[in-house]
This record gives sequence, C-alpha cells and structure tokens, in this order.
Amino acid sequence: MENQVEGKKKKMGLSTKIFIALIGGALAGVLIHYCIPEGYFRDTILIGGVLYVIGQGFILLMQMLVVPLVFCSLICGSMAIGDTKTLGRVGIRTVLFYLATTACAVVVALSVALLINPGTGLQMDAVETTEVSVAESTSFADTLLNIIPKNPISSLADGDMLPIIVFALFVGIMLAKLGPKASTVSDFFSQFNDVMMETTMAIMSVAPIGVFCLIAKTFAEIGLSAFLPMLKYMAVVIIALLIQCFGVYQIFLFLFTRLNPIRFIRKFFPVMLFAFTTATSNATIPMSIDTLEKKIGVSRKISSFTIPLGATINMDGTSIMQGVAVIFIAQIYGISLSTSDLLTVIAVATLASIGTAGVPSVGLITLSMVLTSVGLPTEGIALIMGIDRILDMLRTAVNITGDAVCTTIVSSQNKALDREVFARED
Ligand code: ASP
Repeated sequence: MENQVEGKKKKMGLSTKIFIALIGGALAGVLIHYCIPEGYFRDTILIGGVLYVIGQGFILLMQMLVVPLVFCSLICGSMAIGDTKTLGRVGIRTVLFYLATTACAVVVALSVALLINPGTGLQMDAVETTEVSVAESTSFADTLLNIIPKNPISSLADGDMLPIIVFALFVGIMLAKLGPKASTVSDFFSQFNDVMMETTMAIMSVAPIGVFCLIAKTFAEIGLSAFLPMLKYMAVVIIALLIQCFGVYQIFLFLFTRLNPIRFIRKFFPVMLFAFTTATSNATIPMSIDTLEKKIGVSRKISSFTIPLGATINMDGTSIMQGVAVIFIAQIYGISLSTSDLLTVIAVATLASIGTAGVPSVGLITLSMVLTSVGLPTEGIALIMGIDRILDMLRTAVNITGDAVCTTIVSSQNKALDREVFARED
C-alpha cells in the first residue's frame, strides 16, 4: 500500500518535472547562445558534447524499446482480441479515422494559409536558405506491397513498422487459435512484454534530464534572427496546428466518446511535451501506450495496434506544415493555384502523411511529393528548411495527439475504454 502511494507520488511528479525541464532547457539554451562566446568550449564541448550525448542518448534509449515493445505488445493485443473479424473492424475504423483527420488537417492548413497569405510581401534576400536534396519516392503499388514482410527478421532489424505490425498480427491471431497448445510461446511474449513495459518506466524516470539537454541544445543552436523573416509562415503553421489539436481533435473526441477534452489534454500533456522535445513520433510510442493505459483507460489490446500504426501512417501535423508550405511557396514564386490544385494537395498530402516516417525532418522530404503534384518547384523547400526544427517539434506533438485521440475513440467504440481510469484524478 505504502509502495503504491509512493509510486503514485513519484509518477505525479514526473510530468511536472518534464515540464520544468522543458522550460529550464529552453532558458539555458538561449543563455548559452547569447552569453557564451562562440568557440570550442560552447560549440564542441557544451552543445556538441555534453548536451548532444545526454539528449541523443535518451532518445536512443527510448528508440531501443520501440521494436521489441511494438512487436510483443501487438502479439499480446491481437492474441487477446482473438478473432480476425474484430481485429479487421478495429483496423478499418482506425485507418478511416486516420485518413479523415489528416484530410481535415490539410483543409484547416489551406484555409488558414489562404486567409493570412504567408508568402506575400516577404523579403526573399532576408531568408536563410539551405541546399535541398530530394529523395526518390516509391510508387504507390510498391508502398502497398512493402507492407508485407518478405523477411520478418530483417523488418524487425530495420524497424520497419508496417511489416512488423502485419507479422505480429499473424503471430497473435495464430497463438489465439492454437490456445493452450502454444502456451509456452504466448507466455514468453506476454512476459517479455511486461519486461519492456517495466523498462519503459525505468527509462521514463530519467526523461527530465534527457528533455532538458535536448531542448537546451536546440535553443543554443538556433539564433532567433533566422526566424524573423519567416514569422508569418511560422504563425500560420502554428495557428493551424493549434486549431487541429485543440479544436478538431477535441470535437471528434467529445462527439464520439463524450469524454471531457480538457481532462484528456491534461492527462496526455506529458506525452505531447515528450514528442515536442524529441520531434520523433516513433520514440513516443512506448510512452503513449503507457499513458493511454494508465491515465486515460485505453486497453493495450487496442493501443498496441493503433499507436504504432498511427506513428507510422498518421501525421496530421506534418500534413498541416505541407499544406501551408504549398501556399507559401506558390505565393513566393507567384504561381496561382486552382481549386483542383488545392484538391490535389489535400489528396497528396494525406498520402504523403502515410509515407512520412516518424523521425525528425522527414516531413520536409515528403513535401517534395506534394509540391511536384501541383507543379511547384521543390527548391522552395530550401526557404523553410532553416526554421523547420521548431515547427517539426510542434507538428510531432500534434501527430501523436491525433493518434491518441483516434485510439481513444476506437477503444470506446470497441468497449475497451475504462472510464473510471479516465475519471480518476492523478
Ligand atoms: N518529426 C515528425 C514525426 O516524427 C515527422 C516530420 O514531420 O518530419 O512525427
């Protein structure tokens, strides 16, 4: 009992600690940037040494868990659900929600951008540009085929989320079918799953230190001057992200589950902060699953499937940046877009979201696909690259919130939501 109380106290403290670390890290970063002179000590020892090693080490620790955790918890989840019909229903609903929220996100982005016109009246020479290299894109047919793992072991080794999900679903369903005959294998996976969840909690306890270093490094590196000419573009992206996160999602959440959106945000906020600091949806998977289960009451049967899937295919924040970037670049180059161009942007940005991996900056790469679809020059990406990091952090927080909201809705529809857990004060 005493342990429980102690555990609770410690857990409550963690969210606050992460928040304090975030603010403290930002302040420390700005101080380092402006108060310590450029040179070996600041750039190599402090920023590129201490802050980089601790911050990156923390992200790596979280990433270390992703593949084994997703694999084991998905096997356990699909084994617990058992029948393929329910799994299919959950899958279809989730994918539909993901696509619908992404399309909404692009519409919000285009509307705000067309209202504020971020690209008009911009002094081009004031913008710092960076060289762009555009990655080759895979065809839609190949993207679809790549979901089936030719060799599951190499998918696991490469951390390819979609093939891992497919393979784990097969294993889980077959284990459910075989029942006691395969109890050794199912016991192994559920016990290994427990080990991974415990490890997640252990690593989370050092999150404040990791968050502090990551944020301090980011702020120490970026001077504020690069932002000034881009403020209008940034403002449009941020407004659209806020509308999506605190408007669209919360309306969806309330309509489908009747849960209190403010309480939802309060409970999920630490995960958003974590995504913000790391700009990596993938690394957020373990913390998301854990928080959804312990604070929101979402069963892991559902989240073990929908959260990794969302971190891979559902990037609403990213498609918001892409929608705004399209308008911004079109305005800069003086190219006008027709209504059918805008519809193309909605469709292609929704697809690009599926192809965007949950790691930093990938949204910029898939942006080239959206730009090309309406005949805009991909060189335009160079204009927004310099200031993208901050927006990447913000959109990643929105990306994973979208996954969590959809997951909560799908759980509620499948009677896998414990409302008492949600109602509990923590
Ligand atoms: N950093 C984003 C994520 O991990 C992807 C992106 O937009 O670049 O969700």
